[in-house]
This record gives sequence, C-alpha cells and structure tokens, in this order.
Amino acid sequence: MAKRPRVVIVGAGFGGLAAIRALRHVNVDVTIVDRNNYHLFQPLLYQVASGLLDPSAIASPVRTIVRRSRNVDVLRAEVTAVDLARRRVTTSAESLDYDYQVIASGSVTDYFNNQDARKRSTGLKDLGEALSLRSRLLGAFERASLVDDADTRRRLLTFAIVGAGPTGVEYSGAVAELIKHVLPKDYRHIDFAEVSVVLIEAGDRILATFAPRLSRLATRSLQQKGVRIVLGKSVRGIDDHGIVLDGGERIETENVVWTAGVRATTPLDLEGDALARSRRVKVTPQLHLADHPEVFVIGDAAACEQGGTVLPMLAPVAIQGGKYVGEVIAARLASETTPPFHYHDKGTMATIGRGAAVAQIGPIRINGLIGWFIWIFIHLLYLVGFRNRALALWSWAWNYFFWDRPVRLIITNAGDN
Ligand SMILES: Cc1cc2nc3c(=O)[nH]c(=O)nc-3n(C[C@H](O)[C@H](O)[C@H](O)COP(=O)(O)OP(=O)(O)OC[C@H]3O[C@@H](n4cnc5c(N)ncnc54)[C@H](O)[C@@H]3O)c2cc1C
Repeated sequence: MAKRPRVVIVGAGFGGLAAIRALRHVNVDVTIVDRNNYHLFQPLLYQVASGLLDPSAIASPVRTIVRRSRNVDVLRAEVTAVDLARRRVTTSAESLDYDYQVIASGSVTDYFNNQDARKRSTGLKDLGEALSLRSRLLGAFERASLVDDADTRRRLLTFAIVGAGPTGVEYSGAVAELIKHVLPKDYRHIDFAEVSVVLIEAGDRILATFAPRLSRLATRSLQQKGVRIVLGKSVRGIDDHGIVLDGGERIETENVVWTAGVRATTPLDLEGDALARSRRVKVTPQLHLADHPEVFVIGDAAACEQGGTVLPMLAPVAIQGGKYVGEVIAARLASETTPPFHYHDKGTMATIGRGAAVAQIGPIRINGLIGWFIWIFIHLLYLVGFRNRALALWSWAWNYFFWDRPVRLIITNAGDN
C-alpha cells in the first residue's frame, strides 16, 4: 500500500488544532508536536492569575482533544530545528520527516531587550506565569500582614502592570476587583488604603487598537475600580524594589507584571528579510514560505498581509489560518487550486472586570453589561470541551453573585520570597 503523505504540525495552540480539525477526513497521517501536553486558552490566563479560574478550566490535554481524529499522532516534545532542504523536523524526542509542515508555534513575551524587565518582572503568557502571578500576589499580602514598617508594606502591596493592551487592561481590572471586593475579607488587619494597582502605558491611551471612545470608557471603568493609569511613560529600569519611568518618576513595588508586547517564535532558522515586525515569518497569500510551498506558517508566528496591513496576533487569525491550510493541503492532494487566504474579522473585545467589557464588531461599538454578556458568550463558544465551559461559567456566576474568587491558593515558592 502506498504511504500516505505525512503532515507535521508544530504547536497545539489555536492554529494547530484548527489545522487538525480541517485534516480529519483527509488522506494524510498527521503528527502534532507541542512541548506541553495541553492546549492552552490564553485569553483567560489573566483569570487564573487573579484567582478566578482553576488552570484546568482553560487547559485541555491534547490527546483528549484529538481522540476522535484517527489520522493524528501526538508527540510531546520541544521542536528544536527544521531542515527545510531535507524536509525534516528535529525534536527533543525524535526526528520527523514530513511532506507538509504547519508551523503554529505562536509567540512569547517581548521584553524589547530590557534585561531588567526580563529578570525582574513576570509575563502573562503561559500557565506557569499565571500561577506564579497568583502566588506572588497572595504571597505579598501574607508578607505585608507581618510587616510593621509602612513603607515596606506599601511597596509589597503595590502592583504595577506594564503595557495597557487588552491583557494589561483585563489583568489590572481583575486584580483591582480582587483587592477591592475579596481580599479585605481575608486580611482584616491590612489597611487597604496602602494597596494600589498602577497600569503603565508608553502610548497616549489604553487599548490603543480600539476606538478612542472605548479607550475612554475603559479608562473611566478602571479608575472607578481604583487603578491608577500612567500614560506616555516607558519603563526605564526595574530593580528589586521598584520601577523607574521616563522622566525619573519612581514607583516603589516588588510586583511587576510585563504585558507590553509579544514577539513570534518559530524553530525556523530565519533572519533579515524573511522576518517582519515582531519577528513574524513573512508568508505568501497562501500562508506558506515563498521558497517552500510545503511549509505553512500560521497564527502569531506568521506575518500575513491583507489589504496593506499585517493581520493581528489574535486567536481568530490563527484558527482561520489553520482551517485554510488544512483545506489547501487537501486541495493539493486532489490536484486542485485554492484562492488566497482571506481573514474575516469578527471583531475584538476586552473585559474590564465583572459586568463590564468593550467590544468593536465592524462599525458597532458596545460597552458595559451588554458587552460583558457578549464577551462571556464568545469565550464559552471558543473554550475547548463541555467540562471547561461548565467550569468557567460556574466560576463567573459564583464571582458575579458572591463577589468571590475561589482559587486563592499559593502553590509555588514564588509568593514566599
Ligand atoms: C494573556 C493573553 C490574552 C489574550 N487575549 C486574547 C483575546 O482576548 N482574543 C484573541 O483573539 N486573542 C487573544 N490573545 C492572543 C491569542 O491567544 C493568540 O493570538 C493565539 O494563541 C495564537 O494562536 P497560535 O496557534 O498562533 O499560537 P498559540 O496558541 O500560542 O500556540 C502555540 C503552541 O506552540 C507550542 N510551541 C511553541 N514553540 C514550540 C516548540 N519549539 N516546540 C514545541 N511546541 C512549541 C506552544 O507550547 C503552544 O502550545 C491573548 C494572548 C494572551 C497571552
């Protein structure tokens, strides 16, 4: 019997899983490789970091997800190199030859070469970081409750978030609510006037990719929750006890979260002209490398231009890219041609805490409670598996009715130091 073509997919994120779904009934053997044995729903990471969701509500084992796809094998390993000429992927476990390769390896936190930031702040990009942030935040309250010196207490209880894109805004809103409504019940001896949340943004407004009116509404909403917003200032340095901003202002804090940006990561050995902004790999309108039509790059890892702009690093871009690439591979095997990739923008949204969100869907701008319900609906739709949806919905309802964050566990050493 003739050997079936082999497709190697790097990354079991949004793009990789969408490609698997599209290839389910295609006559190919698929191997999906990821360093983790789970798919992570990154848009809800900030809720793990702020004690609202349990990690298992936003992460699902890859083997469970692909169980019904009979043509799929799973390999848990780090992809370390790709030999484009030999069509071979090297991993920490074994080497894999391919006929087609789909690179959906996503992105990592970008510290913009700021070594202080890399060493002394925490990103919010994976489960380990989210759990570490949760432990650090709660650990800071535990330590502050034992300290007599007011300056030390204030430093421990100041939470600085650098970067006011959707991740920074959502996280600071969630932390502010935790501090305002939940923790005072646990830490009766702490004076909450000493606690502060500061959101620092180098640009002139928060949520810069949203319409200015939504930025203003989000600003007001965060300020009502007690978040101090600093605009137009970059971080010049971070030391063990604080942050120095452009212009010299110093913020005393031991808790710095870095949500200022991400950059693409791939196992491809590419430099210079092959890469676009944020190290994303330039691809053709069919989402493959110009010299290698058998190698596709999708999602955050790829710089795909449409209408003169590069598509944003968003889950729907990765999902639609994965689906498209699966269809292209099927079409090629049937000797058919396919039109270029076309991204359908269904809108963007961000929550600013319980009962408040901003959303822009085409020309429509939505905010407040309606925005929040739409946000809930969309996230439930995209979460993988019934159990995760039920867990998330249960936690949101619990928080809504009881102002409670049930997952207030310190489980790493991060919060103890
Ligand atoms: C905190 C946060 C909030 C977000 N909120 C939103 C939102 O509200 N809406 C939205 O649309 N988007 C949001 N995003 C962006 C969205 O999550 C990404 O655009 C999306 O995950 C990209 O999908 P992907 O398939 O390209 O990569 P990913 O989903 O990141 O998947 C990449 C996978 O590749 C694996 N991998 C990478 N390198 C290797 C290697 N060398 N070897 C083995 N495995 C590897 C990783 O482990 C990972 O599983 C958010 C992102 C973050 C971090």
